[in-house]
Parts: sequence; C-alpha cells; structure tokens
Amino acid sequence: MRTNMIFLIGRYFWKIKFFLLVFVAGITISIYANDSKGLQPPHYLNSSEYVVIEGKAYPVPYPWQGKRVGNADDPKPDDLVRLPLDLTLDQSKIYVTAATKDAFVIMAEAAKEDSITLLADSGYRSPAYQKQIYKRRMKKGKDFYEVATGTAPPGYSEHMLGSTLDLVPSSFMFAKSPAQAWLQENASKFNFIESYPENNADGFFWEPWHWKYVGP
Ligand SMILES: [Zn+2]
Repeated sequence: MRTNMIFLIGRYFWKIKFFLLVFVAGITISIYANDSKGLQPPHYLNSSEYVVIEGKAYPVPYPWQGKRVGNADDPKPDDLVRLPLDLTLDQSKIYVTAATKDAFVIMAEAAKEDSITLLADSGYRSPAYQKQIYKRRMKKGKDFYEVATGTAPPGYSEHMLGSTLDLVPSSFMFAKSPAQAWLQENASKFNFIESYPENNADGFFWEPWHWKYVGP
C-alpha cells in the first residue's frame, strides 16, 4: 500500500507540481487583487460614462461619475493669462483665468504679510494633458482605477476650468504646512475654497494642496 502511494506520487509528480503551482498562483492573484488600492467593483460597474486611454474605454468610477467638468469639446477658457513668475514653483509658466490670477496675486500678497509663502505648481491643464498623466502612470504599472483614486480622469479635472491651483508642495506635506493653516483661516476672504477637503461628503480623495477660485 505504502509502496503504491510512493509509486503513484512519483508517477504523477509533475502533474501534482503543476496543480500546486496553479493553486499558489491563484492565491497570489487574489491576494494582490484584494490588496490593490484601486477602486474595485462595484464602484464603477454601473457607470455609463467612459474615458478612453490608448484606445481602451474605461468606465468612469465613483466619485468622478456624473461629475464631468465644463464642456469637454471646447474646454479651454478664452482668457488664460500667466501667473507672475515669482508666484510659481521654479518660475514655471502657469496659466489661469485673468480673474483667478488677480485674486491669487492679492491673496499671496496678504499671505506674505503674515510670512506665509504661497507658490503655485499647477494651474490650467487641458484634458489632453490630463490623459498624458494617466498614460505615464499606467506605463509605470498602475491600473486605470488606481490612478483614478487620486487623480481626476481626463474631462473630470477642475484644472481645465483655469480657476484651480495646486500649491507647493502638492502632496500630503501640504496638509501640515503653515500655508494650509493660513488658507483654512483666510482663503474664503479671497474667494478661494479647498475643493476636496478631508472627509468630504462626495468621497473625493483629500487634496489639501488643491484650491479653487470661486469668484466674488
Ligand atoms: Zn489639483
């Protein structure tokens, strides 16, 4: 009996090894899928909106679903102007609407009087540019839904309005910066709002560095 068992294991060794390999691979894939930080079904399964990246259509996930920004066919604001270079990171050329520029210049001056530096590192971005961001991150191995967790899909970013700025540093470091504390206290006086505050009701990823001019 025992000899038979050893004989059988020997005879089917490669088959057993193969099934073990498939089993382990299956477990690995399921652990990876559950561990992924991207939005998983059913968040996006009901979406009737799609974004096309490299020829592939992706259903737009929650919370972006139903929140397209502006007119996707003709999205560029016609009054974009350049921010003064001393208000941008590394003196980069950043464009926003004229009203946003005027309001930001006044707010940055007020902040400076309180020894706070407000610097912009992003303003107007076209949906095409937003698509480039996705392509770049997806090439580095992220899937569409992982990118969508923290970055608006093309056509869904407030940056295409020309009234939104990312401030330096445009990362979670900003949350603890003196600039963030100052903005929480003062930004509303200059008609700027934090678009995606912490624990926002719509379920947007918190972006403490992302501020939008909402007009007087
Ligand atoms: Zn932003």
